[in-house]
Amino acid sequence: MKLLDGISLAKKIRDDLKKRVALLKGRKPGIAFLLIGEHPASHTYVTMKKKRCEEVGIFSKVLPLPVSISEKELIQTIERLNQEETIDGILVQQPLPSHLSTAHVVESIDPNKDVDGFHPLNMGKLLLGEEGGFVPCTPLGILKLLEEAKIELQGKHVVIVGRSNIVGKPLAALLVQKKAHRNATVTLAHSYTKDLASLCRSGDILVAAMGKPLLIKKEMVKPHAVVIDVGINKMETQKGLQIVGDVDFAQVSEVASYITPVPGGVGPMTIAMLLSNTLASYQKIS
Ligand code: NDP
Repeated sequence: MKLLDGISLAKKIRDDLKKRVALLKGRKPGIAFLLIGEHPASHTYVTMKKKRCEEVGIFSKVLPLPVSISEKELIQTIERLNQEETIDGILVQQPLPSHLSTAHVVESIDPNKDVDGFHPLNMGKLLLGEEGGFVPCTPLGILKLLEEAKIELQGKHVVIVGRSNIVGKPLAALLVQKKAHRNATVTLAHSYTKDLASLCRSGDILVAAMGKPLLIKKEMVKPHAVVIDVGINKMETQKGLQIVGDVDFAQVSEVASYITPVPGGVGPMTIAMLLSNTLASYQKIS
């Protein structure tokens, strides 16, 4: 079994971005984070993203907004950022409070500044296989991990468990593209899927993105399969409260050919791809 090490690949990508940003004349790329309410995980994620921006020389600002903000006020804030010349990327940290429509908010972001890749225009380009849009960061990070390890996708059966708009669906669209080094056959599973275990066992590559701690067990994995664990779950263990994935790493690492650890697999790649999308946005806008 080999580890797909997201920490070292993400560092390599950040080091490269840092060199490219240092060469830019004039203003640096900029990103705005909109942080609504007091969601503790969202605060942690935004703090980490801001820190990584600073490390590579990307300007960032966090706009903390009250949980009571109306949709109209939030959209007006986004529209102002759409016009701001120093801002190349706008990220609204999800999940949003329930009185706000994620769709309305995402659609108000200028697609050219939508570095999360969640705007319908960018999602549409991804689905159509068109170049020039932003690809969501987690799927893009997974693709980079697979590419780095030279894992062939063509003709392989990829089973993705989880059909969210931020992970499962865009990842399926990315891997099924008719393009060199893609051309995978993709099955998207969800909570209504029957006999999940045997479906998972048919995957040459298995991606777990459910948010269900340690649900994927050894007997659900094809011998020598590549296993990508997207899940981030807090779980009480013998060692206290720990972050665990959706895959039972101790068991599954006995049968997998490659596996991502949690933490240290997909997570760091997601942030590295956000930085990469922000630089790409700067280069498109400037
Ligand atoms: P969502 O809750 O939006 O989606 C979960 C998906 O999993 C849904 O499609 C759901 O099915 C499916 N699902 C849930 N339980 C089961 C089950 N028992 N069997 C089969 N399918 C199931 O989650 P996200 O996509 O936002 O996130 C998934 C996980 O990935 C979370 O742990 C999250 O923290 C993590 N994450 C990690 C990132 C990273 O950078 N590493 C980035 C983004 C997320 P249905 O649609 O039927 O409800």
